[in-house]
Amino acid sequence: MACIGLAIPQGLRAEPPSDDQHPSTRAVRPFNRYSDLLETLKKRGHKLRVLGYAPDRSPIVGIKAGGDKKPAIFISAGSHSTEQAGVAAAVELIDKLDTKHQVYVIPCRDPIGLSGFRYALSLGLGEVPEFETMEQMEALLRDRGEVLLDADGKLLVLIGEYGYANRGLYRKIEKGAAFLEPLKGRRIWFPSRYEDVPGSALFERAYTLVVTPDAEVLHINRFHDTAWAPTEVRCTRQLMASINPGVTFDLHEFGGDSFWFSVRRQKTDEDEIWERRMASEAARAVRASGAKMAPDNYSPGSFFSKLEQGVFWLDPSQRGEGLNLADFGANRYGAAFTVETGMRQPFKHRVRMSMLTVQAAVRVFEERYR
Ligand SMILES: [Zn+2]
Repeated sequence: MACIGLAIPQGLRAEPPSDDQHPSTRAVRPFNRYSDLLETLKKRGHKLRVLGYAPDRSPIVGIKAGGDKKPAIFISAGSHSTEQAGVAAAVELIDKLDTKHQVYVIPCRDPIGLSGFRYALSLGLGEVPEFETMEQMEALLRDRGEVLLDADGKLLVLIGEYGYANRGLYRKIEKGAAFLEPLKGRRIWFPSRYEDVPGSALFERAYTLVVTPDAEVLHINRFHDTAWAPTEVRCTRQLMASINPGVTFDLHEFGGDSFWFSVRRQKTDEDEIWERRMASEAARAVRASGAKMAPDNYSPGSFFSKLEQGVFWLDPSQRGEGLNLADFGANRYGAAFTVETGMRQPFKHRVRMSMLTVQAAVRVFEERYR
């Protein structure tokens, strides 16, 4: 399991690294609302290309940076709303990735999730609800919603067009379960609750689950290769089709305190040699910065195999559920990385490690096309 809402504690919280005042991330903080992110992009003078609209009419935006050289570099983040350092890193990279290649950035693929659980609930209720505790929130769901499931600590209700749950249901509910019938093709939101992670504490984010037309509970980082897909995903693949990226970076986080990333097998030996060079150089740069790498015996899950410390091949055919963004990038376009910073590290450090991974890999990417 990579970064899908499951905590993988790895010991005590690490001491803040000395790079907390590093010039590249001194002013970086998590965005509280998606509107704050859009505001920041506009203030920095970026031209926003609207790729489509989330169900709340939030624009999904792409920004072009870098130079004119092809192939393009594609950077995205924010499909899992608790993983906010990736979003901040994607925003910073718009200005701070120095390259002649075209750079396209979708900094947040789940605007509703970023704006938090109370906000997501307001889409069903028609007003922003007030509650402070999980018990109060559950009472509200039972009171205002049609209860679809209330057993074994799992509560799921339907309010308006949407499902709301008290906890994660991904891989916790059998595909085709009868009570999912009214949620087919719709969303379920449940609250973040990383109490020790500022920005992802209780109710601060809404985690978005998507119920497929055949009643399987998945999430926004799936559907990249399926005919039926949520609008956020379709925006992403349309942009990718128009830019044909030579390398794709998807910036995630996981519940530990170390760093790792995954890559995908490539179609040709030459492509794979370059992908491995990019991966090794990115891992070397992060290690050299003094960051804590995933321990040598760490494995993110059964569908990963280790390439070197902190670097894993991900095989989506073993995992199932179709292709995530990086799987799709590798399958259709070229090299693709899913970066996983450890949420139990200080925020700025995580942002910096994400940026460093992209910057180091891009140096090798440039070398290939020199
Ligand atoms: Zn993730």
